[in-house]
Amino acid sequence: MFPFEVLNSEASTANLLQQVRWREGLYCPRCRSESVIKYGSYREYQRYLCKDCDRTFNDKTGTVFALMCMNTFASGS
Ligand SMILES: [Zn+2]
Repeated sequence: MFPFEVLNSEASTANLLQQVRWREGLYCPRCRSESVIKYGSYREYQRYLCKDCDRTFNDKTGTVFALMCMNTFASGS
């Protein structure tokens, strides 16, 4: 189960998201392919390239969406 009390701090939320996000391995947020390679960096974020759909993304891509999901999940319970 998710430790929602940790979400009080915005900084730890970002940390948590990153941990949760890559917990099951690195994959493309668009096609969910695991054929992903490191592709330089964008500011402080590691950047990646999906070899299947040729999309690039970084650690922050999809974070807002993940946060929305968690908020929905939290308020719905
Ligand atoms: Zn992809």
